Amino acid sequence: MKADTQQEQDSIRVRFAPSPTGHLHVGGARTALYNWLYARKTGGKFILRIEDTDARRSTRDSYEGILRGMSWLGLDWDEGPDKGGDYGPYVQSARGVLYHADAQKLIDEGKAYRCFCNPEELEAKKEEARLNKLDPVYDRACRDLEPGEIERRLAAGEPHVIRFRMPLEGEVRFDDIVRGRFTFSNADLDDFVLIKSDGRPTYNFAVVVDDTRMRISHVIRGDDHISNTPRQVHIYLALGYRLPKFAHLPMILGGDRTRLSKRHGAVSIDHYAEKSYLPDAMINYLALLGWSLDGKREFFERQALIENFSLKRVSKNPAVFDNDKMEHINAEHLKKMPLIRKTILAYHTLESAGCIPADFSVDLSKPVDLKLIGGTEPVEDTAAEGEKIFNEREFRRLAMILNVYGNRIKLLKDLPSMLRYLYKDDFPRDEHACHTWLKEERARERIRLLADGLEELKYFDVATVEEALRSLADRLEIDAGELIHPCRVALTGQSVSPDIFWIIVFLGRAKSVERLRAAAAPRG
Ligand code: GLU
Repeated sequence: MKADTQQEQDSIRVRFAPSPTGHLHVGGARTALYNWLYARKTGGKFILRIEDTDARRSTRDSYEGILRGMSWLGLDWDEGPDKGGDYGPYVQSARGVLYHADAQKLIDEGKAYRCFCNPEELEAKKEEARLNKLDPVYDRACRDLEPGEIERRLAAGEPHVIRFRMPLEGEVRFDDIVRGRFTFSNADLDDFVLIKSDGRPTYNFAVVVDDTRMRISHVIRGDDHISNTPRQVHIYLALGYRLPKFAHLPMILGGDRTRLSKRHGAVSIDHYAEKSYLPDAMINYLALLGWSLDGKREFFERQALIENFSLKRVSKNPAVFDNDKMEHINAEHLKKMPLIRKTILAYHTLESAGCIPADFSVDLSKPVDLKLIGGTEPVEDTAAEGEKIFNEREFRRLAMILNVYGNRIKLLKDLPSMLRYLYKDDFPRDEHACHTWLKEERARERIRLLADGLEELKYFDVATVEEALRSLADRLEIDAGELIHPCRVALTGQSVSPDIFWIIVFLGRAKSVERLRAAAAPRG
């Protein structure tokens, strides 16, 4: 979907235009992402504009949260409130004069008019319409006031709004890249408000003025705005402005097929950051909410998303947000991440959960050669400069642990509870599993023998440990599982774990023997 000509490429300008009235949520982030991907793919510009026309609901906290969420996702913008640019300001509350100039132009040309109806009157009329089973639309009472009356009421300082003079007949059309052509009958559209009585513009008006002045080429946004678009198209036409291209993105639904909302649990991007999702996994998953390359491939690195993204492959159909799938994609990203990077992240996670022994932490500014670690893929990556890691032996041990755990790791934040037994003695124990596998004296006797065997080994590597356990099982004429299960429970507190021989080696001889003996101790 490279732009056809150099000129078109130069002029591709898209924007994300959130209202700072809440968190950056999944739907908003998906809109931001598609705009960003389109800009990065075509070499265009991605603009952030804050739509704070609703003064009562807009907050500084929300504004900061949106910027934080976008930065966390790695969606950088080329122009925006904190960055500036040639078409600022990028916050609507600072653009009042522009809206007033265009509103005045529309009034002067008879395409808009001042309406002095007060809100109570309007509400009463709407109520009456509802009672008569009619659409509660504005009855156009002020559409044709005499100029003299307007002058007089303005001079008296009567509060008023500015309304669009909607043609009473005809149709309005626009083409949507995703959804095709839309046609609306003007008779179904009302004389909607452009400027409110407090002087602020409405969303429909401000968005047209801003998209035009900011030279936005493509308006990519949620399809909840389709019903606003015919009104916006009217404003473009009335002002003689060129229409941008529209691409309306499909709705995101929750598991129950209703529009995704707080009812479905957390939907703010901050929440996923706190839950330790990887930003790359998050944007991979968000990209799939309405777009697909071929209906099959699901794993995409950031660069691959940029290369493959296309508005033409955005679906018309609603997307369903599926937490399990997102977790799966996160696990895939963790799995494919260079081991050294993953180890650094894991270390930080374990450290902040108090899982790392004090002697583990040293400053290691030189790269670690992970090729020395048996059983792991070679890793070219190096630690970021100045990144605090730990002593090399422990670092390698953690890297190997992560490697053995493989895709059992779905989220980094699960690591402290998953791995605590490797670093601390007060690890979580599944009492039921302990009871099942260790209640019989016979089972305890066997793991005592295993402890004896491990103590005598000359080498303590995975192959030797495995050989020792299996030959003990042979000698006892039992299945190896009869040793492995109680041993696993004794060492890890759980009935499932990765390969037990690796676990024994990770724990080391002394700790393994100590835990086996403790579990084998006679019961009172
Ligand atoms: N401020 C609007 C919103 O948050 C933006 C709509 C648009 O992109 O035109 O929904």
